[in-house]
Amino acid sequence: MREYRDYLARTAGMAQRQLHALLPEENEGGTMKAMVLERIASVEEKSLRLVNLPKPVPGRGQLLVKVSACGVCHTELDEIEGRVAPSRLPMILGHEIVGRVESLGSGASRFKKGDRVGIAWINWACGKCRFCLKGEENLCDSAKWTGKDAHGGYAQYAVVSEDFAYPIPEKFTDVEAAPLLCAGVIGYRALRLSGMEDGKVLGLYGFGASAHIVIQVAKHKYPDGKVFVFTRPQQKEHQDLARKLGADWIGATGDTPPERLGCAIDFTPVGEPVREALRNLEKGGRVVINAIRKATPIPELNYTEHLWYEKEVKSIANVTRRDAQEFLPMAAEIPIVPETQEFKLEEANEALFLVKEGKIRGAGVLKIAE
Ligand SMILES: [Zn+2]
Ligand SMILES: [Zn+2]
Repeated sequence: MREYRDYLARTAGMAQRQLHALLPEENEGGTMKAMVLERIASVEEKSLRLVNLPKPVPGRGQLLVKVSACGVCHTELDEIEGRVAPSRLPMILGHEIVGRVESLGSGASRFKKGDRVGIAWINWACGKCRFCLKGEENLCDSAKWTGKDAHGGYAQYAVVSEDFAYPIPEKFTDVEAAPLLCAGVIGYRALRLSGMEDGKVLGLYGFGASAHIVIQVAKHKYPDGKVFVFTRPQQKEHQDLARKLGADWIGATGDTPPERLGCAIDFTPVGEPVREALRNLEKGGRVVINAIRKATPIPELNYTEHLWYEKEVKSIANVTRRDAQEFLPMAAEIPIVPETQEFKLEEANEALFLVKEGKIRGAGVLKIAE
């Protein structure tokens, strides 16, 4: 029992005296299954472990959410392999969470029991710093991120502050809605910041979970624009999906497209496509990098070829609540059709391996409950 108590102390980051309330026999709520990251390792080592933990208890202003689906994001690879290490271990990863409100903490009133809600990467922000006051809570120094600083959705239950939960449009099933919460929301932010306008050519480097949603938004919002898609040469599945979703041209990273790109979004985990996008960019165009970390460096740039003529590079960091609040209803209205591949909670390691290999068509989603 002592060992279990120590384990919980590390998991929950709580003082010993608070743990009595969490021990299963004393906790009316019982236990839950979770896939937990206990140590930094390569994804190939299948380092997430299935454990039983006490069902969490919602604090003041929080919701207890029974998780039905959780998307698998590339960011989990960066967390597992230590490029974006969780602030403590063990940690439950996962930040594309769809579920139903099971109970409300004291003072919580925005949702009621049984409501379907989503939880995204932004878990909490201070609301007081110079970034938060400008609506840039994605840059808040004290912000907490779901599955990194607060337990996420690779589990049967999760808690979240009611201010950081979103209603999910009826249009989507639980599994379809999950990838909208990160791949969709951050892709929407990247598209907004790319400077895309109707009539322009948008270049997408990489065609995974996020890009396959962005192309659908771009095709809807900019009917006279074009979308050019660049993938790894062997990614035939990704190219087929891009074709199905209306890409105007498809090639491999390194190819020169028939027209220059008015703007571009790089979704890849490596450095080379940034230089490639800059090379193919129109004068005054912007490349947006939608990645939390790069596994390889951006190669040396040649000023004349890659940057002159007022070309710009901008990175995307995190998301704001506004991004989610704007994107979710719009996704239902378009409507976005997310392509998903389902896995069981226990198969999270296998799903992550396939994400790393770039072998998932669309988005991978853990289906945790009906
Ligand atoms: Zn994500
Ligand atoms: Zn702040």
